[in-house]
Amino acid sequence: MICVSIGRGRHRHVMAEHKHLADSGIELVELRLDYIQGEVQVKRLLRDRPCPAIVTCRRASHGGRWGRSEEARLVVLRTAIVEGAEYVDLEDDIAFQVPRYGKTKRIVSHHDFHRTPADLAGLHEKLASMDADIVKIATMANHPDDNLRMLDLVRGSKVPTIGICMGDIGVPTRVLGLRCGSPFTFATFHDDRVMAPGQIGWKQMRQLYRVDAVTDATKILGVIADPVAHSLSPAVHNAAYAASGLDAVYLPFRVPAEHLDAFLASAPRWPLSGLSVTIPHKEKVLAVAEPADDIVTSIGAANTLVFQGGRVAAYNTDATAAIDSIDALLQAAEGEADKAFPKTAIVLGAGGAARAVAFGLKRRHVDVTVTGRTAERAKKLASDVGCKAVEWQARYRLPYDCIVNTTPIGMHPNIDETPFDREHLRPYMIVFDTVYNPENTLLVKNARAVGCRTVTGVEMFVRQAADQHRLWHGVDPPPDVMREAVKRATASYKSPD
Ligand code: NAP
Repeated sequence: MICVSIGRGRHRHVMAEHKHLADSGIELVELRLDYIQGEVQVKRLLRDRPCPAIVTCRRASHGGRWGRSEEARLVVLRTAIVEGAEYVDLEDDIAFQVPRYGKTKRIVSHHDFHRTPADLAGLHEKLASMDADIVKIATMANHPDDNLRMLDLVRGSKVPTIGICMGDIGVPTRVLGLRCGSPFTFATFHDDRVMAPGQIGWKQMRQLYRVDAVTDATKILGVIADPVAHSLSPAVHNAAYAASGLDAVYLPFRVPAEHLDAFLASAPRWPLSGLSVTIPHKEKVLAVAEPADDIVTSIGAANTLVFQGGRVAAYNTDATAAIDSIDALLQAAEGEADKAFPKTAIVLGAGGAARAVAFGLKRRHVDVTVTGRTAERAKKLASDVGCKAVEWQARYRLPYDCIVNTTPIGMHPNIDETPFDREHLRPYMIVFDTVYNPENTLLVKNARAVGCRTVTGVEMFVRQAADQHRLWHGVDPPPDVMREAVKRATASYKSPD
């Protein structure tokens, strides 16, 4: 069950949101009365409530907004009990000051905004002994394994327990808690109105992660990155699972570089079936995972891991996705001449994406040139691929059949920038921009205006994700669902005029 926290300054807004949520099928809300400005009218908020409620009133030192006296706060909580609220949230230091009465269930809670303590079991035992119907522990995750310790605690507890790790690293506990026996998980009314770090909006919880359907049988997959919050992969993969009825959930795992080894070592404990890998881990994962083919070995980087029977296989779907995107453009061409694969190409940028694209093009016997603002990096890439490198300033000097941008230039919010000026574009060129936010970058727009054929980053993104889906699940993803999900997720990114 999802419990949605409502934190508004005015009573009528609280009641309106409560009604809206109940009408939308939400079965439990948390009324954050510390958000109310002025006198709190507990009776008014609980009378005729459209669905059950937890009453919470947090002090600032516990992450809340209560600015008045402690005595007044206790009066609010006691009144909620007298008025028959279904649950009342009592922090461990006041649990004994607010006695049990009537049918109201007691959630005894503890918050730590700095760390997840080493002795979670000891803390749990203390909270459970405070006449708790439910124990709630919310702590900051500083290490991905904090999530596992928290989920193990929830699973092993005799008293119903909600265990949440806060922050970006802790997001998986919000989705997987129910699967471990947590009586409910908390969500916010809006994605952007979070009351604790890492909280997720209820619509995302329900539609994106489908938390109520996550069980022990559900396959767990995700993306490892740092940062991870803006990754489009959860939107794309979860949309495919929902559309095809796959019992799987795809999560954002923020894994700092120094915790990568520990995270991969603990993969069986989640247990993980597969991972997308992105910045900064694409190369480092090869220290642990076995390259599944010579594409991975030659590129020296992986964007996909498959966990099977104690083995971790590494794949790179970026290279094939880039080349398949060009092939799809050529196949759609009408004239025979336009179906020919480019003979020469320049790759702008020398990072991970450049590496995959340059190797992919080279495998198709294209005469590849790479260029980057850091000449040494471009030279190193050229030497690994077996192609030429030119200085960044020299990128316009020779005509190329194909131009591929793998730098972030033109990406939101710098949408008025382009890595290749319009005056150097020619109608016979294929212009491929790997940037996907926005899809129609200034480079793509200029190229179309000049008459070039174009490939967008959305094309490549969808193809690399679809290839991952095939590797993890052995079936094709539902056509167009992933593309629609990327378009929806990037709809807010404005294109240049
Ligand atoms: P990366 O490893 O950080 O490499 C970025 C490259 O761009 C580096 O060579 C960097 O130069 C260069 N660069 C950055 N800012 C620049 C600037 N202002 N002027 C000139 N060069 C600049 O990142 P990555 O993994 O390759 O990803 C790069 C981009 O590719 C992403 O932003 C994303 O849009 C796109 N991408 C798309 C897909 C897809 O499926 N569509 C997949 C992967 C990546 P230095 O070496 O000097 O830092």
